[in-house]
Amino acid sequence: MSRKYIAFMPVNPRENPADRVDLALAALFENGIVAGDLRDRASLRNGPNYTLLFKDPDPRKQEGGFGCDPGRMTVSVHCGDMKGFSGDNLEPVACIHCNSELPYNAAQDAFWALRDGKPVDDPMMTMECYHCGEGNSALDADWSRSGGFAHVAILFEGETSNRVEPNPAGLALLSQVLGTPVRFVQVHGW
Ligand SMILES: [Zn+2]
Repeated sequence: MSRKYIAFMPVNPRENPADRVDLALAALFENGIVAGDLRDRASLRNGPNYTLLFKDPDPRKQEGGFGCDPGRMTVSVHCGDMKGFSGDNLEPVACIHCNSELPYNAAQDAFWALRDGKPVDDPMMTMECYHCGEGNSALDADWSRSGGFAHVAILFEGETSNRVEPNPAGLALLSQVLGTPVRFVQVHGW
C-alpha cells in the first residue's frame, strides 16, 4: 500500500507531549493552517493559510486545482505508543561508531518491528553494523526528512509532490505549543 504524507513530530522521539495535542490543533486552527471542526477530527483538512506550515514547490495538478489546495489534504493525529513513520524513501544512515553506511534492511526492520507491536527495547530496534559489529539505536539515528519515531505526530495527507518544504515559522509555532522542538518528515512509496 502506497501512502504519501508529511508529518510534524518532536525532534526527540522519547518526548510525549500528548497533553498538548489539543492546544497544538487549536493553534493550527487559529492560524488558518488547519480547517474543519476541532471536535470532529475526521473533518480536519489543510486550511487557507497552510503555507505557514509547509509549501509544495512543485504542486500536483488535480481536477480544478492542485492537490495541496486548502481543503484537499486530510489532517490526522497520531498520539499514544511510539510509532515509526517511514516509506520507500527512507534514507540510509551512517554507523555512529565507524561511519559506514548501515544496511537498508536493518533500518526497515526497525520501523517494521514497532509496526508489528514489538517494544521499543526490542533487539530489532538496534541496527548492527556489518563493518564494525557495533549496535546503533534506530531511535537515535538521523533519518533526515525521510522518517522518524514519535509518540505524537500531526499528519497531512494528500496529492503533493515528494518535495514538500516545511516553513520555519510553522515549525516554531508547533514547537512552542507542544513544548518541545518539532521537525518535519515526508513519507512516500514509489
Ligand atoms: Zn560500524
